[in-house]
Amino acid sequence: MRRGSGLHSVQVDKAEDGLQRRIPFHLPSVGEEEIAEVVDSLRSGWLTTGPKVRRFEEDFAAYVGAKHAVAVNSCTAALHLALEAIGLAAGDEVILPTYTFAATGEVVAYFGARPVLADCRPDTLNIDVTTVARLITRRTKAIIPVHIAGQACDMDPILELAQKHGFHVVEDAAHALPTTYKGRMIGTISDLTAFSFYATKPITTGEGGMVTTASDENAARIKQMSLHGLSGDAWNRYAEKGQWYYQILDFGFKYNLTDLAAALGIQQLKKADDFCKRRREIAWLYREGFADLDACATPQEVDYGTHAWHLYILQLNLPALTGGRDEVVRSLAEKGIGTSVHFIPLHLHPVYQKSFGYRHGAFPTAERVFERVISLPIYPGMTSADAGCVVEAVRDTLIALRR
Ligand SMILES: *Cc1c(COP(=O)(O)O)cnc(C)c1O
Repeated sequence: MRRGSGLHSVQVDKAEDGLQRRIPFHLPSVGEEEIAEVVDSLRSGWLTTGPKVRRFEEDFAAYVGAKHAVAVNSCTAALHLALEAIGLAAGDEVILPTYTFAATGEVVAYFGARPVLADCRPDTLNIDVTTVARLITRRTKAIIPVHIAGQACDMDPILELAQKHGFHVVEDAAHALPTTYKGRMIGTISDLTAFSFYATKPITTGEGGMVTTASDENAARIKQMSLHGLSGDAWNRYAEKGQWYYQILDFGFKYNLTDLAAALGIQQLKKADDFCKRRREIAWLYREGFADLDACATPQEVDYGTHAWHLYILQLNLPALTGGRDEVVRSLAEKGIGTSVHFIPLHLHPVYQKSFGYRHGAFPTAERVFERVISLPIYPGMTSADAGCVVEAVRDTLIALRR
């Protein structure tokens, strides 16, 4: 994953023929509206958690249609506090896909609980629900489905298993804004849903996250634990009408979002639909551009949900190529196209092998998929000409590597 993308990476290199363009893997789309809103915060004197965080929470809850939205400073913090709210404890187990980012699993380990990994489906790359039933034990406290790339997981079978066995569903929706499942917005379906506003995510606050829930109790607990376990509405403490008194009710965390970040979020959220529409258009251009190639398979949309197109994950047909995925990455880099790989399955990482005994070969689909995936640039700031450059570079590369 390309961390910390910044404006310094906006670089348009014109080769002699005037056609060569550098297309970074990601660029945030930040406009004058966001800049003005941040400046307004700076002038207001409210820098940390204050009225803009509150407004962002209200706007976000309204946008997804959730009863509560609680802002925090990352999706990792959102997932951590969601698991804290359901009472996860040492010795418990949480089922999650091996095919995901580090954050989904590490939050389970924070509690001394065990991340019980599951394989993924070869088509959507989402958790393979058919493998989940046999992973359930008396210790199973929760499952964390991840909507990979922004495409909805098939939630009904997951919710049924949770209901039947009495465990919680906490969704990792870091990629899924906006995403629907059977007509319902992700963020309104299960006990708790965590969103990310990291620099590369569907909307950004630089760093930031949100938890949505229908439960008053969960929302209050998360709010309290996000600011040192203090009583009451902590930001009111500093307001004119607020009071200085507080009690420490539990050992909490420092996970509150700043007003500066929320200022960005308020304006980004207004653009979430347009951003998604533009990403979808780019996905269509890619689909058309690669339709006749048998050396790769383009991502398909499921019929039970929509796709936020946070990532465009192309699957290479390796037997049709003389080189592997890494050669494709290298060739595209030479042509000025930034790419990434999502994800290295968790069970292949040293800490999962050392701490939980996972081994190579344990999740064959995730391993096979990992060898052949490549993520192409897809963000609202891309022009159709940019997408055309990516198509041409991928086509040239795959045709040159054809067996
Ligand atoms: C980015 C990401 C996260 C973590 O988001 P942060 O806001 O950076 O903490 C969690 N899960 C997935 C699947 C992600 O891609």
